[in-house]
Amino acid sequence: MPKVQGLSKAEANYREAEDPKFSCHKCAFMFPRLAIGGCRYVRGVIHADDTCDEFKPRGGTGSART
Ligand code: SF4
Repeated sequence: MPKVQGLSKAEANYREAEDPKFSCHKCAFMFPRLAIGGCRYVRGVIHADDTCDEFKPRGGTGSART
């Protein structure tokens, strides 16, 4: 697990989500889950339709990509 707010966007490979199922909006770490918000691990402004390598699905079920 990364440190809280410990990653830059480059370190997390933050990028536009190709698949909305794996976007920040569906990730356990985005807050608040609006169009624009923040992330527990990645510093800076987080867009709901982006993603990164730390993605974890909300709810604990299903498979993460990493
Ligand atoms: S996908 Fe990455 S940047 Fe987006 S909310 Fe999850 S951990 Fe944060």
